[in-house]
Amino acid sequence: MNWLTNFVRPKIRALVQSKDVPENLWEKCPNCGAMVFHRELENNQRVCPHCSHHLRIPAKRRLEMLLDDGAYDRVDLPKPLSDPLKFRDNKRYTDRLRDAQNKTGETDAIMVARGKMGGHPIVVAVFDFGFMGGSMGIAVGQGLVTAAEAAVKAKAPLLVVPASGGARMQEGILSLMQMPRSVIAVEMVREAGLPYIVLITDPTTGGVTASFAMLGDIAIAEPGAIIGFAGPRVIEETIRETLPDGFQRSEYLLEHGMVDMVVDRRELRGTLIRLLTLIRQPAPPEAIALPVATTTARAKGKASNTNDPKHGAGTIDRKAAE
Ligand SMILES: [Zn+2]
Repeated sequence: MNWLTNFVRPKIRALVQSKDVPENLWEKCPNCGAMVFHRELENNQRVCPHCSHHLRIPAKRRLEMLLDDGAYDRVDLPKPLSDPLKFRDNKRYTDRLRDAQNKTGETDAIMVARGKMGGHPIVVAVFDFGFMGGSMGIAVGQGLVTAAEAAVKAKAPLLVVPASGGARMQEGILSLMQMPRSVIAVEMVREAGLPYIVLITDPTTGGVTASFAMLGDIAIAEPGAIIGFAGPRVIEETIRETLPDGFQRSEYLLEHGMVDMVVDRRELRGTLIRLLTLIRQPAPPEAIALPVATTTARAKGKASNTNDPKHGAGTIDRKAAE
């Protein structure tokens, strides 16, 4: 029975289904409700032309958008133990995995690739939310470690693009162990003196937020992305307070210092290339002499401006004195 349902049925279904007719040519924007022609949406990098809502994108599309000429080499990921707990809710975990694999054509929720951005070699790990909500199990943890190793080996920066509901509950404690594991992966990159950049996309929640996603040397978020640990309803019920507008959205996190910048998807590639160029450039010889001069200037400024409330350094000094 298993062999029939799991192997034969998908094959027959694939034969019977027509491949050429797209299911629908129009997509509804989940934010403003406008019907957008799919080609227009694709040309606009899946950003709604009416309200600039950033729709979710599959991992492959993300890699094509980010890397030079949309070209990249896949980094092979080791095949981990699937269904270590023999988990079953109303459906067997192995069946869920197989469905997701058939749907996305990927083995798990992460894709790792080597490519170039503005000519800079880079290793990119991208989550696919379409694969079981981008949840982080052993395979994803392994993917992050492999990505970090590839970055260290290539002496290239690591860019991770999370889109995840958090840890994969079907793997229980083993999925939670991927949190420290992913942090170790980040540490490997850091110890090698390489930049680690995170591009947070909608949604980035749960154990993913509580581990590698918040550790970027530079944290960039897409506009309107949900970023948080627990959902707003759970928090409201726990603290018995109404949460502010825009809570757990990129812009809110930017205001509160949790991310460094919020960048429109259509400007992301340009911004990332600019950052990479700045980070990867060897320091010019005259910059080496600079720190001494800057320190003196700042020290002088502090002395003369302590009473000026507009002056940042003075304010800090006063606060420290109180
Ligand atoms: Zn819209």
